[in-house]
Amino acid sequence: MLLLAAITITTAFEAGSLGRVEAVSPVHLRCALKGQADQDGRNRQASWYYFRLDGLPKQEVRLELTDLVGEYNYKPGSHAVTRNTRPVYSYDDRTWKHFPDGNIEWDEKQVRLTLRFTPERGRMWIAHVPPYTTAHLARLLGDIGRSPHVRQEPAGKTTQGRELPLVTITDLAAPERDKKTIWIMARQHAWETGTSWVVDGAMRFLVSGSPEAARLRREILWKFFPLADPDGVVNGQVRFNTHGFDVNRNWDTAEPSRMAEIAAMKNAMLAWIDGGRRIDLFLTLHNQEGGDYIDGPPGDGAQRFFEALAKTDSFQASGGPRNIFARGAVEKGRMTVNQALFHERKVQAFLMELGVERNVKLGRPRTTGDNLAFGPALLQALASVL
Ligand SMILES: [Zn+2]
Repeated sequence: MLLLAAITITTAFEAGSLGRVEAVSPVHLRCALKGQADQDGRNRQASWYYFRLDGLPKQEVRLELTDLVGEYNYKPGSHAVTRNTRPVYSYDDRTWKHFPDGNIEWDEKQVRLTLRFTPERGRMWIAHVPPYTTAHLARLLGDIGRSPHVRQEPAGKTTQGRELPLVTITDLAAPERDKKTIWIMARQHAWETGTSWVVDGAMRFLVSGSPEAARLRREILWKFFPLADPDGVVNGQVRFNTHGFDVNRNWDTAEPSRMAEIAAMKNAMLAWIDGGRRIDLFLTLHNQEGGDYIDGPPGDGAQRFFEALAKTDSFQASGGPRNIFARGAVEKGRMTVNQALFHERKVQAFLMELGVERNVKLGRPRTTGDNLAFGPALLQALASVL
């Protein structure tokens, strides 16, 4: 008889997350996803897992991902992990690949995703999408911080006392009165790491020596909230802040005591506008499972933005821009950031969703390289709206 040492799993690192693990056999583990519910125990979403496996054998391993079902916008039964989910793996916690179709089985009845693979090494990491943590952000801010075009001033503090980064990139020699202003926000939802890679690519491009970057700095004052929920990211959460509030709802209430992140970011933007400065365009970036879209105030701007995005390598344009209030009046406590900015100050404010499943233009899920490359294209698409 072959005696197998046990595979061990750990999540004891930044952004690590997994629920209960049950060993069906030494090479067959059943892994429940932790998920996260809101302040009322509703809207559980299970779309983040990030764990390390050690002691892997050189034979096929079977991992079942379970406890996937939750609810979305108070509709029970939804699950973000589906038959189209392709988790990512890494042997160095830096470079990530999607599991190929042949490694995936989906059980619709049990609502269970099974990975079958033969590990190449004894240690590997698995996640829903390639992680982007506060360590990645610190590296980015350190690198671009050497540029004379960058100013960093936090917008405030999170519930757990972390700084909420706010970064300005512009050509300081060009007068502000001649410039337009664009604000960009990412990671209201902690699991949506793909949007951080987009913003990382965008900010690195914007400080670069390229003539196009120089033009974008000269003509536009760019403001970035690159990580809107640092607590959620560090703690491996999914979409709610430390008190359980969805960071892209509640923008109408924005209560400082339990929604510190929302209140601080909203204050920064309203103070900017009320101080006589302008926000010509606002964009919040999100990931969803399948498909892409933008949602914003209807008009020429939305159409121009959508058409510019359609020309990029990876934005899957179909159906045109969506109307910000298409679903009618918003209930109290349910307003998104772009709805609130439009509602309260008539800002041309957009939300973008980028799918993490198979991309129809690329014929595969977006990689980190695709996301980084989309960053500069996105800045140019935004500039074309003004
Ligand atoms: Zn989101």
